[in-house]
Amino acid sequence: MIKDHILVWNNCLAHIRKTIDAQPFKTWFEPIKPVRIINEVLTIQVPNKFFYEWLEEHYVNVLKKAVKRELGPNGNLEYNIMVDNHRQIGTHKTKTAEPKFKENEESKFINPFVIPGIKKVKLDTHLNPIYTFDNFVIGDCNKFPGSAGIAIAKKPGGTAFNPLVIYGDVGLGKTHLAQAIGNEVFKTFEDRQVLYLTTEKFTNQVIQAIKSNSVNDFMIFYQMIDVLIIDDIQFLSNRPKTQEIFFNIFNQLHQSGKQIILTSDRAPKDLTDVDERLISRFKWGLVADLKTPDFETRLKILDKKLEKEGLELPKEIKDYICIHIKNNIRELEGVVISLVAQSTLNKRIIDLSLVKDVVRQFVSQVDREISVESIKHLVAKHFDVPVEKLQSKTRLRDVVMARQLSMYLAKNYTSSSLKTIGDSFGGRDHSTVIHSLKAVQDLIDTDLLFMDKVNILVKKVQTSLVNV
Ligand code: ADP
Ligand code: MG
Repeated sequence: MIKDHILVWNNCLAHIRKTIDAQPFKTWFEPIKPVRIINEVLTIQVPNKFFYEWLEEHYVNVLKKAVKRELGPNGNLEYNIMVDNHRQIGTHKTKTAEPKFKENEESKFINPFVIPGIKKVKLDTHLNPIYTFDNFVIGDCNKFPGSAGIAIAKKPGGTAFNPLVIYGDVGLGKTHLAQAIGNEVFKTFEDRQVLYLTTEKFTNQVIQAIKSNSVNDFMIFYQMIDVLIIDDIQFLSNRPKTQEIFFNIFNQLHQSGKQIILTSDRAPKDLTDVDERLISRFKWGLVADLKTPDFETRLKILDKKLEKEGLELPKEIKDYICIHIKNNIRELEGVVISLVAQSTLNKRIIDLSLVKDVVRQFVSQVDREISVESIKHLVAKHFDVPVEKLQSKTRLRDVVMARQLSMYLAKNYTSSSLKTIGDSFGGRDHSTVIHSLKAVQDLIDTDLLFMDKVNILVKKVQTSLVNV
């Protein structure tokens, strides 16, 4: 018998309505539209990915129960993720049956070194499968560690990059990159054992091993690992016993050609209270830092995150976000998640005013220095020239003027060096920047009308600081 999807869904809703409160029902179930039923699979359309994830997290059982009640024990549910900002942008399919990864699932962690004599068990890698190379954007800021990571993933233990030490400020992708290597190895090499753990977890294991008199087993366990990833090794600081055991494990693995990947919030030489012997080993392979992403890379990353959420934003809004969120990729993600939540929960249209509200929550006081990028945008807009022109070689009078003025403002209203300023205007050298500054200053000194123009721009720069 062919069942009508609308009827089935209405029956499901009637059932669900009885089990949950009116408000969440209104928020989470009313916007759903039934699409079709094929082979006992009911397809429903949800507004966006966030919505889908919320349903899966909070209402999966309610949904399952209702669907099975209507369609029988083989009944299943499929989602079409459709629109955001109230426009249709495409269809994704996801199934309730898809396993979900949960971080910090402590209870699932079996401490395998207590399993005696079993060598060939494939252990849980403790990797988060969401961190892959596919969704790791590579730009100037991370090209070096990124390509090293790709090389290692192809030949773990077989490159000169052993250990690989990735360091950089918080939120710049250390964990992502380290885990992407692990996930790639896991996917490509059936027989390689990958293990990811934080320094914190490693330390706890050491403490446990000492307590239970099983340091030897512990060491033997680690010999089974082919790719060992330890995150945030700055936390080894002041833990001499952990350091000692790690030192031994490191030596054993390294000697037998196993790959070691470490991350740290600072360069090995700057680690405090870590044994010199260890620090010198950290420098044996490749020490590579992740730098703060430039504007272009931030835009690319933002695009990736938006694509993942099934969200499309106008260029102007994306520029605004990337101009203001500049030090931390996690914040960039935070903005996207907030925007999705705002548009879904509060039913707000994603326009510049909402974006400003959201960005304001993420940009701390200390970040409130205006950036060279925002100055460029501001000046370009003021003179109505495309911002890309400021980077180009064009000698058109209007463009030259806008370019020189931007450099002047950048010098006076940011702490950027002449070199950085030159770099952000299409790689001009510092003498060109000096020349521009002088040209603007000369005009200010001699041309009152020009001085007025500059003052208007200065005002704009200052207000944009207040309005961040
Ligand atoms: P860290 O370990 O350096 O503090 P993370 O690896 O946790 O930073 O990165 C913070 C967030 O930013 C993560 O969600 C990560 O997926 C994302 N991220 C970092 N670098 C990139 C990149 N190059 N491309 C895409 N996403 C990135
Ligand atoms: Mg990290």
